[in-house]
Amino acid sequence: MRFAGRALIALAWAGALTACSGSGDSGYAPVGAAPPVGEVERTATWPVPSQGADSANSAESAQPVVPTPKAGTRTPGKPLAGKIVVLDPGHNGGNASHPKEINRLVDIVTGRKPCNTTGTATDSGYSEHAFNWDVAIRLQKVLKKEGATVVLTRLNDQGVGPCIDARAAIGTKAKADAVLSIHADGAGPSDHGFHVILPGRVPGHNDAIIASSQRLGLAIRSAYRAGTGVPYANYIGKKAIAIRTDLGGLNLATRPSVLIECGNMRNKGDAADFTSASFRQKAADSLAVGLTAFLTSS
Ligand SMILES: [Zn+2]
Repeated sequence: MRFAGRALIALAWAGALTACSGSGDSGYAPVGAAPPVGEVERTATWPVPSQGADSANSAESAQPVVPTPKAGTRTPGKPLAGKIVVLDPGHNGGNASHPKEINRLVDIVTGRKPCNTTGTATDSGYSEHAFNWDVAIRLQKVLKKEGATVVLTRLNDQGVGPCIDARAAIGTKAKADAVLSIHADGAGPSDHGFHVILPGRVPGHNDAIIASSQRLGLAIRSAYRAGTGVPYANYIGKKAIAIRTDLGGLNLATRPSVLIECGNMRNKGDAADFTSASFRQKAADSLAVGLTAFLTSS
């Protein structure tokens, strides 16, 4: 009874989730909406301090306050001393139960998209938001050891949001040297492999970070491929690189930014990797190698 109940809940949950990124990549559909509107993060307003009962505000008020890195806190002598990295674990654990907040539309320059989405899950019910969070925390630890200042776009895996535009603004506010959004896709069962999404040019908005984001993306691609053994995606992108202008986090970015879809949660092989803690550590270590290569190359 107890287990049957759990199974039902798990099925319902999985059904409510949507592909991580539409059209193959970071697609996320709004909570409670009919499936496939893929989207990722777009954002607009940053530190939205909670003011009153506005649901969106109350959602975001639970989100991180971006620390302002101080020069004195930097660790000299380490490879990433003085570097600021923003890690953006996609989605959040409370999104599914807060459709009103999450479905609110925000401006992403090329259109309007929901504030945030639920993300996807493996067939066994391991959620994408939990995966993204776990990898981000592991990665944060590695980067800090290397001397970097690391800012997360959310403080835990139980909150709601923040909206995609707010996530982008965190990178700006932190003056990040690199911004990495971490996701896993929800594509068809035979689709597998990873890909990295680069910002497409949105004239007058992200022109300044197109070239640097491309360098960042290529470094992430090489390191993730070499470090995890996960192949390039067989269903999207070219050699694991996709360029998009429908993602708020990338359209609104003012710092070098990319998004990685670490694999496809709906694929059995990729899912087996994701549910392994040792794989997630390997993923984090690989991403650290990619970030370090980028941050120390210029
Ligand atoms: Zn996602």
